[in-house]
Amino acid sequence: DAAQQPGRLQVYQQGSDAAHQRQVNLVRDLRHAAQNGELLLYYQPKLDIRAGRVTAAEALLRWVHPQYGMVSPGEFIPLAERTGSIQILTTWVIEEAVRQLHEWNQRGLRLQVSLNISADDLVNRGLAEQVGQLLARHGVAAEQLVFEITESAMMQDPQLALEVLHSLRACGIHLSVDDFGTGYSSLAQLKRMPVQELKIDQSFIRDLDEHSEDAVIVRSTIEMSHSLGLKVVAEGVEYSYILDLLRRWNCDTAQGYLINKPLPPAQFESWVRQPLS
Ligand code: C2E
Ligand code: CA
Ligand code: CA
Ligand code: CA
Repeated sequence: DAAQQPGRLQVYQQGSDAAHQRQVNLVRDLRHAAQNGELLLYYQPKLDIRAGRVTAAEALLRWVHPQYGMVSPGEFIPLAERTGSIQILTTWVIEEAVRQLHEWNQRGLRLQVSLNISADDLVNRGLAEQVGQLLARHGVAAEQLVFEITESAMMQDPQLALEVLHSLRACGIHLSVDDFGTGYSSLAQLKRMPVQELKIDQSFIRDLDEHSEDAVIVRSTIEMSHSLGLKVVAEGVEYSYILDLLRRWNCDTAQGYLINKPLPPAQFESWVRQPLS
């Protein structure tokens, strides 16, 4: 084993040291990423399946680190969440998205934009007021903003999280349950959350076939959501036969590489202005 092979052990330790050093550096640099202008928002289209039109997008954070280059949010968001710097990132994301919405509105491109919100944001009593002021300042309608919330983000303080969600709703912001079907899903909690949309996690969608268990789950989730008055988004749609199934099953919205990947704002804008082929 590795302990008896000094060469391999050394390589292993060097590898883990480098990985550890990278984490330490990322945590240190995260706090200044926004003010250093290293953050970007990319936009991934959401297709209205019945209308055959893109009317919305999800904003996804990108970090161009001076040393490591493009760092994936799958790596730095969990670090930010664990080290107390997620709220700095969320504040930047909301401001940037509202600024972008204003710019697009002015150029006659009216879209709804979804943002991802973390557990720490849901215990921030000032969130709704902060966002409300920002929307007013830029003259952007609250209905153009959607906050995506995972059920696990509700767990830190479920009571306070519900209060924050209700204050966001009172402001006119739309709410969506992200990654539905993973983690701490509970229908009782879903019923209490003042949400308008549910996103079925991509793990159910990616390898969907008509006769699988995933198909049963997806179809019943769509039916249940509609009974509760919620719109349904399927994420991770990579193939046209999956879009065909979703259309047949009356799913409202599709998001995934089939439609397009997340794009920088200018590229997204020119793409979305072209008619879909
Ligand atoms: P998410 O919210 O579930 O976002 C969807 C992720 O799936 C994105 O990864 C997107 O690029 C990817 N994706 C979209 N379509 C497909 C597809 O067809 N196939 C496959 N395989 N993947 C697809 P991304 O951009 O790397 O983001 C990863 C996660 O990081 C997000 O998952 C979200 O949890 C988190 N994240 C991203 N931006 C933010 C942010 O601004 N704030 C917070 N709190 N979290 C964020
Ligand atoms: Ca999301
Ligand atoms: Ca998701
Ligand atoms: Ca996810």
